[in-house]
Amino acid sequence: MKGFISQIESFGTVDGPGIRLVVFFQGCPLRCKYCHNPETWKIGGGEEISSDEILELYEKNRVFYSKGGITATGGEPLLQADFLIDLFQKAKKADIHTCLDTSGIVFNRNNSENLKTIEKILEVTDLVMLDIKHIDSQKHKALTGSGNENILDFARFVSEKGVKMMIRHVVVPGITDEPKDLVKLGRFIGKLKTVVALDVLPYHTLGVHKYRGLNIPYPLEGVPQTSQEEAITARNYILYGIKESR
Ligand code: SF4
Repeated sequence: MKGFISQIESFGTVDGPGIRLVVFFQGCPLRCKYCHNPETWKIGGGEEISSDEILELYEKNRVFYSKGGITATGGEPLLQADFLIDLFQKAKKADIHTCLDTSGIVFNRNNSENLKTIEKILEVTDLVMLDIKHIDSQKHKALTGSGNENILDFARFVSEKGVKMMIRHVVVPGITDEPKDLVKLGRFIGKLKTVVALDVLPYHTLGVHKYRGLNIPYPLEGVPQTSQEEAITARNYILYGIKESR
């Protein structure tokens, strides 16, 4: 089976545990204002690559991936669910650790087809990396273009299925750093049963040049980068909320 892929990184170190083959899926329904991969937005763009070709790339460097594996990221990998299932099923047969980096936006518990598909993906996923961009749905919509209901429900579903999850949150000054929202986010995370890590990331502007290249106005022009200290403070508020909920 073939998928639309934006890019493949052979030695990724920030998209899951260990050194990983990172596959950037093409296409995303969200428009996060701080997105540093706007080249992955367009659905149907990228290059068509087969799951076998990706696994061949993995096998070439298998020795380096002993503590890592394959990560599907993007873009939004769940938009190409059949291809993702094919890739991860083959990876599991080859004893490869699989990590799914998703926004969870396409999840819909009320759609039985969608539910079956997501179940099938989770059966062959070792770790889900889930970005919770904002706990407040209105503010989430202002930041990404969509509310967060599906995303929060996806987190609950992953927890129900017993699949390990790493939660990420990007701290953007004046947008996602409000203490009461961070504590609320912590309370939500605290109720999930399979969270193994919390990654609170400072907002950076490394992707700005890509917007210029694509001729798209950068939505956070003038917003300063977050310092490590500010990210640590935000993390502490989230941890406070987690403790409160337990
Ligand atoms: S979900 Fe990821 S790829 Fe999509 S717009 Fe947001 S940050 Fe960018």
